[in-house]
Amino acid sequence: MSDQNPVFIPGPTNIPDRLRRALQVQTRDHRAPDFVDTLAPVLSGIKTVLNTTDGNVVTFPSTGTGGWEAAITNTLSPGDRVLVARYGMFSHRWIDLCQRHGLDVRIIETDWGAGAPADRFEEELRADTGHRIKAVLVTHNETATGVLSDISAVRRAMDMAGHPALLFVDAVSSLASVPFRMDDWGVDIVVSGSQKGFMLTTGMAILGVSPKALGAIETARLPRTFFDFRDMMGANARGGFPYTPPLQLIYGMRESLNMLFEEGLENVYARHNRLAEGVRRAVDAWGLKLVAKSPELYSDTVSAIYVPDGFDSNALTDHAFHAYDVSFGIGLGEMNGRAFRIGHLGSLTDVMVLSGLATIEMAMADLNYPIRLGSGVAAAQEYLRRPAQAAAKSA
Ligand code: PLP
Repeated sequence: MSDQNPVFIPGPTNIPDRLRRALQVQTRDHRAPDFVDTLAPVLSGIKTVLNTTDGNVVTFPSTGTGGWEAAITNTLSPGDRVLVARYGMFSHRWIDLCQRHGLDVRIIETDWGAGAPADRFEEELRADTGHRIKAVLVTHNETATGVLSDISAVRRAMDMAGHPALLFVDAVSSLASVPFRMDDWGVDIVVSGSQKGFMLTTGMAILGVSPKALGAIETARLPRTFFDFRDMMGANARGGFPYTPPLQLIYGMRESLNMLFEEGLENVYARHNRLAEGVRRAVDAWGLKLVAKSPELYSDTVSAIYVPDGFDSNALTDHAFHAYDVSFGIGLGEMNGRAFRIGHLGSLTDVMVLSGLATIEMAMADLNYPIRLGSGVAAAQEYLRRPAQAAAKSA
């Protein structure tokens, strides 16, 4: 296995050299008075990415799943009811986590390939006149299906129903890659991680917490120690951590934020959209179908692609790995064997994405897929090439 080829899995993502260097700092004293000079800009930079002025940022040495656990244990009590739609592997795993914590989980079964059903949420919330539902849980970007849900529509549904439930959003595979508007969308807790849009190693759970969610801590009875928001926020306010911080990751995150702000968040989002559209043009040229049911649901960070009937997507991703040493995402859950995924998030350029499309195209041709070699790459090239820049140069 060489480490020369990029990965096309939807996280963890390729780590740019600049961030690999930033992660390789010597240990420093996390109790030294200058630790706050490193930590404070990281917390405020994440606030900028979340688009929040009212919210608080909390980070833990953990992953997205730990972030979920922190979200529920800080705000809910055993037996509390939560409302959640299942439309992919990650919304499913959130349900599982809530059930294991003894919550009463009201599940809206939704087709895989569809998004968060705002209208169904509104119906359920209107019917809940006693306000038993304490939180609505939504996966912003369902990484298993390549579906991006409209969080503002969920917020509108909650407001239309006049329901006071908290709104928790999983933005693990969307944050720092597509716009996120915590305050505008009235999000109470958003959960993410360091290993996707932030282009870092896995190991930091990232949360935004609204003042309303902080208020819920007073009465929440689920047990928590490591993930206690109050311990973390109190220690952060004094310039430190309640336990040993993942120092190198904090340095890495500082540099990741520098990179994102230097490129400009709007440019980061535009790049993701452009690369995703290049991939979608290729999928179309191959005559294949996305799992996402309609264009407004298309994710700019990952595309899940059905293989034709009679083909096994695991054989395709295995072959790409063994023959070409390139990893693509396997089909998860209901999609196992039926779809493969191309991750197009994080540190990626046009040229890298074209190389991924060329590779999966070769792998499909090797396995006698009914596609024409070069067709997807050509469609993506046609979309990604920049004739206007050549014209401007020669003018
Ligand atoms: N939510 C989504 C949408 C994800 O894509 C993932 C991981 O891929 C998770 C949650 C779980 O995050 P982690 O693996 O960091 O615990």
